[in-house]
Amino acid sequence: MSDSPPAAASAEPSPAPVLAPAEVNLVRPKEPVIGRVTATKSCMRGKSASFIRHVCIDVSGTPLEGRFRAGQSFGIVPPGTDANGRPHAVRLYSIASPSFGEDGAGKVLSTTPKRVIDERTPQREGDDPDDHSLLLGVCSNYVCDLRVGDEVRVAGPSGRSFLLPEDPSRHDYLFLATGTGIAPFRGMLLELLEGPGEACRSEIHLVMGAPYTTDLLYDDLLRDLERKHPNFHYHVAISREARPDGRRGPYVHQLVDERMHDTFGDLLGRDRTLVYLCGLKGMQVGLFPVLAAHGFADAYLEIKDAGLAAMDPRSWEDDDVRKRVRPTKRCMVEVY
Ligand code: FAD
Repeated sequence: MSDSPPAAASAEPSPAPVLAPAEVNLVRPKEPVIGRVTATKSCMRGKSASFIRHVCIDVSGTPLEGRFRAGQSFGIVPPGTDANGRPHAVRLYSIASPSFGEDGAGKVLSTTPKRVIDERTPQREGDDPDDHSLLLGVCSNYVCDLRVGDEVRVAGPSGRSFLLPEDPSRHDYLFLATGTGIAPFRGMLLELLEGPGEACRSEIHLVMGAPYTTDLLYDDLLRDLERKHPNFHYHVAISREARPDGRRGPYVHQLVDERMHDTFGDLLGRDRTLVYLCGLKGMQVGLFPVLAAHGFADAYLEIKDAGLAAMDPRSWEDDDVRKRVRPTKRCMVEVY
């Protein structure tokens, strides 16, 4: 892309969306309740260096039953104690179900855990620089190991700001995901398109980012939804596979940039459009300059520095974006 209007070139900011009401902290992590695994399967498209599963948990009879929403997270408390002998802390996992659950009655929720597997490297001062032993994340591996019928301690839900609007038909949507960041969008898409009532007719685009095609998650489901619903468009950004011309594939923000003129510019320019971003920490640092460079800063960003707002967004430093650019209420970000 060559044309880069100043970051603040667009019209007056549009009103914030009215999000659906959501309950939080119905179950505290210190007093978790018992759920039971009803299904577990890989949700990856092919053989990959990562292991990511779709795990369904029955929460019927607990305060979570019927009271979680797509876009929220819930807590899992793994058994056992940490290196200091204290009970393991709760970990958060995005709910991958629609608000009506996997079962249509809000009794079974699902999530998308990725096994954390790595060689240990020093993370902070004082860590042994020679320690390269195997690091197995405590909770992610525990959840991925669970079998159908196993009990699991759950808490939550949490999150009130990454939700669908109360009246979804008033908006169009751009969902941007990397890796397990697809989890909330699975739930939201099922809710918008396959709910008990009439399917939402709004324009909905999902861009899913993955290093390789085999790393795509819920790919069959998403392709089926695209076939069934002409208003839903599924795009993939595969970053580590070469394109036919030999160039490396795009990251999510690069795909949005490349397709601004034929696809995303019209969508982003509408007052009714909402942007949701979920996945790897730092994703927003790539996307925000792209939004600003195409004149969408006023709609989706708050630039907390006049000097930065006057600059060509394509020359913004990552650190400036991190510290001085915030999303507006029309741009919802969940990164971890
Ligand atoms: P831990 O045992 O906690 O180990 C991970 C920790 O080890 C890191 O925090 C880091 O301090 C350290 N570490 C990491 N790499 C190395 C290394 N190479 N050498 C040394 N130390 C290292 N995860 C999902 O898989 N799916 C989801 O849907 C999901 N949703 C989330 C939603 C929210 C809102 C948040 C905040 C997080 C979400 N997570 C999700 C992340 C999840 O909460 C856990 O952080 C993740 O599963 C790792 O937990 P663990 O217990 O397996 O790893």
